[in-house]
Amino acid sequence: MSNIMKEDGFNYAFNPKACESCQGKCCTGESGYIYVNKTEIENISVLLDMPIKEFVNQYLFKKMYKYSIKEVVYNGSYECVFYDRESNGCTIYDARPTQCKTFPFWDYYKTRVEELKLECEGVIDV
Ligand code: SF4
Ligand code: SF4
Repeated sequence: MSNIMKEDGFNYAFNPKACESCQGKCCTGESGYIYVNKTEIENISVLLDMPIKEFVNQYLFKKMYKYSIKEVVYNGSYECVFYDRESNGCTIYDARPTQCKTFPFWDYYKTRVEELKLECEGVIDV
């Protein structure tokens, strides 16, 4: 059975098998914002068994009126602090933000498929 994912309104599909060999390109590379809302902050704090305040101080920074997850720099790559190189995975996977869950199906990419393909090798034409 095919695992290819499609979303209404998007003229591309996604093959999650590509993640196995990709080395987390969407969690690493260029610096970016990984936004978390109030509910997501609460959920990640619960998952990490940390008081919300401590979690916010340790792992988030403020960008205007929103919070984003901090990054660490590894060999010139800006990596989400929750990306684990060894397992090539997300250490807060079950509580990861919507932004991460919905990638690569972001409105921004609806008209920028070629740009997206450079970022994500799992993206395929339909
Ligand atoms: S960039 Fe694409 S293929 Fe690579 S880990 Fe992210 S979703 Fe998977
Ligand atoms: S929260 Fe997880 S899925 Fe999202 S960028 Fe960080 S490591 Fe990647």
